[in-house]
Amino acid sequence: MIIRSTGAFKMNNDKEEPIHIFSSWCKQCGICTAICPKKVLEKGPDGYPYAARPDDCILCGMCEAHCPDYAITLKAKREVKEEEEHE
Ligand code: SF4
Ligand code: SF4
Repeated sequence: MIIRSTGAFKMNNDKEEPIHIFSSWCKQCGICTAICPKKVLEKGPDGYPYAARPDDCILCGMCEAHCPDYAITLKAKREVKEEEEHE
């Protein structure tokens, strides 16, 4: 499986990106870019979405929940939850 890196996040800072987009599952429908309330996601020149403004992500989960192909995973959200469970 190909894990698509949202490279803009790493270019802007050293934090680990909160979103993973699995390009092998993505059909480039554009739902995630349209539904994101903070306009974090944009369609790249190759047609696949990427996190253009990752620092604006509020981890609301809208993109993950509405992707019809389960191609988005919010890694940061899962890690925060796991940290809370271990406290
Ligand atoms: S909603 Fe899912 S399938 Fe559609 S463009 Fe976004 S990641 Fe790809
Ligand atoms: S989690 Fe919410 S704010 Fe972050 S990219 Fe997805 S839809 Fe946008």
